[in-house]
Amino acid sequence: MKTECSIVKDLLPLYMEDMVSRETAQYVSDHLKECPECRAELAELKGGTGLAAIEGKSTLDTNSAKPFQKMMRRMNRQFHMLAYSLIIFFIFLGFAWTAGENLMYNSLIMPIVGVFGYYVFKWKAVYKVPVLLLLIDLAVFAFQLVEIGFADTIGWTFIYSIFVLVGVAIAFLFHYAIKKEDQK
Ligand SMILES: [Zn+2]
Repeated sequence: MKTECSIVKDLLPLYMEDMVSRETAQYVSDHLKECPECRAELAELKGGTGLAAIEGKSTLDTNSAKPFQKMMRRMNRQFHMLAYSLIIFFIFLGFAWTAGENLMYNSLIMPIVGVFGYYVFKWKAVYKVPVLLLLIDLAVFAFQLVEIGFADTIGWTFIYSIFVLVGVAIAFLFHYAIKKEDQK
């Protein structure tokens, strides 16, 4: 009985798709009448790919989606790494510009940092990006990469944090709106 079950279970996917000979189909259906275990297996198979089977699609379609999803996940991870690098780069650049005439660009750069921050950290960007901002700004101050005092470093970090939070809020609202749209 056990050997018979394992043969039948191997055949079930083909049996489901009508891809077995008439004799084999007869053999499988005879076995199914007597064996609740194999019937359960068949029901489970139908549950998983039932819709595909009804629509006449082969189960291969669902299998071929897997490498694609894997690729998407890998790409997503690479985009995260890229966004993370850009966050650090833009914070560094923005803070370096604080002492110069490009200062005003920060009102644009910092919200963009916030948007990238939301992409990488989701809502945790609310505190993670400001902490990152503080650490980088303090490092710039400590190594005197830009001529800027300690009080100014803290002050500008605070102001930039507000701009960053505006960016996070914009990204959040945008994300929220898209999700809402998807649910309709
Ligand atoms: Zn069986």
